[in-house]
Amino acid sequence: MKRLICAQDVLTASKKHENLVVDSNTIVTPQAADVAKECGVAFVHAEQGDCTSNTNQHATLHDNKNEAAVSAEEIERIVTAGLKRGIWTEESLHQLWTKTNKVDLDSVTIGVSGRHIHLSQEHLDRLFGKDYELNVAKELSQPGQYAAKECVTLVGPKGVIQNVRVLGPTRKQTQVEVLAGDTFKLGIPQVIRLSGKLKGTPGITVVGPKGTVVLSEGVIVAARHIHMSCAEASERGLRDGQIVSIRFDGERAGQLDNVAIRVTENSALDCHIDTEEANALHIANGSVVQIIK
Ligand SMILES: [Zn+2]
Repeated sequence: MKRLICAQDVLTASKKHENLVVDSNTIVTPQAADVAKECGVAFVHAEQGDCTSNTNQHATLHDNKNEAAVSAEEIERIVTAGLKRGIWTEESLHQLWTKTNKVDLDSVTIGVSGRHIHLSQEHLDRLFGKDYELNVAKELSQPGQYAAKECVTLVGPKGVIQNVRVLGPTRKQTQVEVLAGDTFKLGIPQVIRLSGKLKGTPGITVVGPKGTVVLSEGVIVAARHIHMSCAEASERGLRDGQIVSIRFDGERAGQLDNVAIRVTENSALDCHIDTEEANALHIANGSVVQIIK
């Protein structure tokens, strides 16, 4: 998908004292280049991470090996010629691009979750030692969330699951998220819930290196959901709590219904399903699915 930067975008960036990121799929209109020069807005090349002078931003447009029949440069030449001859205005082009990009509003990337546990500080202390602090192994898609290096063991009436990853930071209430298949192994009921809705859910025994916690509730099979910010929800015409479907057209194409929209101010756009759901449709982390309202 090509992206067009026109004069209005440069003015907006200038107001925010920001530079503009360009890559091999970006087209900068001649007027936008002139305005950038006047306002001192630079074009930063996304693939190289360097800051390119606004006087030669066209040189930063690369050929992409995966480029379709028409390269970004060729489109740029056509657009420039069209603008010069007055066939299009910058405004009409921008509208066209926005419309073309609209299809992206109906798609979302997938984040696949395995079984994991969120711990309260009290339970963290009991499992790992007093005033224990988790060690970050990997940042997750949602701002501030991370997979910790620490793992625990789950002990149910029928079986044990080891190496269950702790996710941080700590929460008010401990929450265990297992796969549907895990509930058979552990011997506990299968209760599908959104995160935080723990009333009436089954309990489990959690074992850490320094102690054990017996939970009376808190084990869920996570209900699939899509995180998004308020702005992302409003531009998609979606609201918190709305139920949508997602569709994937891969080798094991299919549709998953009952996907809850979860809107908070700081959410990053990401659709969370668990490994069983992902495997059923042959979806991987980072796959893109269509949202169906
Ligand atoms: Zn989530």
